[in-house]
Amino acid sequence: MVMAKRDYYEVLGVPKGASEEEIKKAYRRLARQYHPDVNKDDPKAEEKFKEINEAYEVLSDPQKRAAYDRFGHAGTDPNFNGGGGFGGFGGFDFGGFGDIFDMFFGGTGRRRDTGPVRGEDLRYDLRIDFEDAVFGRKMTIKVPRIELCPTCHGNKAKPGTPIKTCPQCKGTGQVQTVQTTPFGRFSTVRTCDQCQGEGKIVETPCPECAGRGRVRRVREIEITIPPGVDTGHRLRVAGEGEAGLRGGPPGDLYVYISVKPHRFFQRSGNDIILEQAISFAQAALGGTIEVPTLDGKAELKIPEGTQPGTVFKLRGKGVPYLRGSGRGDQLVRVKIDVPTKLTPAQREAVQKLAEAFGEAVVPPEKGIFGKVREAFGK
Ligand SMILES: [Zn+2]
Ligand SMILES: [Zn+2]
Repeated sequence: MVMAKRDYYEVLGVPKGASEEEIKKAYRRLARQYHPDVNKDDPKAEEKFKEINEAYEVLSDPQKRAAYDRFGHAGTDPNFNGGGGFGGFGGFDFGGFGDIFDMFFGGTGRRRDTGPVRGEDLRYDLRIDFEDAVFGRKMTIKVPRIELCPTCHGNKAKPGTPIKTCPQCKGTGQVQTVQTTPFGRFSTVRTCDQCQGEGKIVETPCPECAGRGRVRRVREIEITIPPGVDTGHRLRVAGEGEAGLRGGPPGDLYVYISVKPHRFFQRSGNDIILEQAISFAQAALGGTIEVPTLDGKAELKIPEGTQPGTVFKLRGKGVPYLRGSGRGDQLVRVKIDVPTKLTPAQREAVQKLAEAFGEAVVPPEKGIFGKVREAFGK
């Protein structure tokens, strides 16, 4: 069904008399907002994007705009049959968003039909050990990707067989058609259908890649994890993405890091947090204890009368700073270990201690719950 078309000025949100600059500005803003590649979850975005492009296509061209102002959609729409018989200006090609993407997003989007195209960037998710994130290391990852065919080096022909220049487009990959309409002559450029935009015609396709010029391979790539990386960091390995098209450069490989948790260390930015249990006696009397650090064991002085939850700092025992020098700290938070089982001798000692503090010690069987039970006569 043909849907009622919205007014092009309304689509771009500009007044009828808007200047070229205003139209361009509105278009750029909307195209960015509704670009399908940034609205993957919104199926309506693509429709909206097409509508915006269609509106811009017309309003940015003084002649098409004049026709639209006079005849409305009938003046510009190639599919509209009630018009003055001057159907269309070559139509709008919304199949490829490549050029628009190139304009706004630095050329990492869809492919164009002709000319060199940079290869796609690749994402590789890598989960690494806690220590490797802290100290860094070299490692080899296996990346499945599309590479230039090693047999034909991307030219698609069986080695030794001829490659001819396309007779239809004379090697340009594009053909131009000129249409004469009541508003003037309009030229349209489209991809050459004889060579599919290649400009060249291969007689015998390369057997290895079946004439595609590229092959799928699993490639071992050595990467260097810098010291100090953390979950969410991304490493860029330049040129290790997918092979380009028609002589275009390869894309980049992005390694997304996630870090496995450690048995007892926790990470907070560049600091390492350790929960360390000490005995009541150590807390009360003070002393020196051994704690694990990323660099091995370290001594930590516990002052007399240390309270549970006290945090001690071991300077420079944390995670190296990714940029710049130095390291964070290790923070040791102490908790007091309460023994769950006592030998009779220990029990006696603790009871003596309690008495020394003047505390009333109730034997366990007559603990508070025992007393409650007695009160209720059970
Ligand atoms: Zn090949
Ligand atoms: Zn051609």
